[in-house]
Amino acid sequence: MNQCCSKKGYFAIFFYLILLVSSFASYSVITHTVQQNETLFSISIKYNVSISTIFDWNPGISPNTLKIGQSLKIPQPDGYLYEVKKGDTLSSVAKLFFADVEDIKKANDLSSSTIVIGQKIFVPSKIIGKGFNNEKSIIWPTYGTLSSLYGYRIHPITGERILHKGVDIAAPIGTPVFSAEDGVVDYVGENNGYGLMIQINSGKDSYIYGHLSQINVYSGQYVKKGQLIGRVGNTGVSTGPHLHFEVQKGSKLYDPLVLLPSRSNIYVLDERESTYGVGGE
Ligand SMILES: [Zn+2]
Repeated sequence: MNQCCSKKGYFAIFFYLILLVSSFASYSVITHTVQQNETLFSISIKYNVSISTIFDWNPGISPNTLKIGQSLKIPQPDGYLYEVKKGDTLSSVAKLFFADVEDIKKANDLSSSTIVIGQKIFVPSKIIGKGFNNEKSIIWPTYGTLSSLYGYRIHPITGERILHKGVDIAAPIGTPVFSAEDGVVDYVGENNGYGLMIQINSGKDSYIYGHLSQINVYSGQYVKKGQLIGRVGNTGVSTGPHLHFEVQKGSKLYDPLVLLPSRSNIYVLDERESTYGVGGE
């Protein structure tokens, strides 16, 4: 009898230990205190993280307003957090980062694919982007559902018939937005109907990313294709969380779908325009 119960006790301790181990995060967060002469760039080199990562963990900072003594959160290794929303699965979260489910499980020490609303999933930078569709010169900037196409349409808010200058991709708030092409950041900030937006110039074309909740680049910065530049939001004139993606060449507008890779492969989008009411500017 005693032996039986002590065995049970051992099992209990064993399972408790497994739970404890599986709840350990596989990353840590350092608090860095800004020193004299430090810049976002020098801090990014010091900790081997991208500037985008520093922005993402410290919303609202700007390279021009860094102050000596200011605290910054820096993850180790380099990576991003995603907070699980209603309807998310581990597989859908992996797709948002164009990553592999198994890599995300490993990075979070998850023994199963069960996730719960509010859970914070850590996505190391090195596993992001495996699923990018590179068949054309630009890549899809975010993983979601095409909710509005380029062209003349009845505006979802004003009811007027006007040109929709880009495509809308519906995706949960916090979904990462990647630079579709290499280029220099021309503009970041609030811009009327576009809400929080980024404009990146590749030298050939100019790309606009609108309605963001978070901006992870600064004006004048050089960004690489596939770099995480911000997060999907619902800012500006918008009826729900989505990315407005627009392509300009000089004063001329392009239908982004002509330039983007096909949607028939994995990690590209479904077209469900009629069933999604999400749109805006
Ligand atoms: Zn739009």
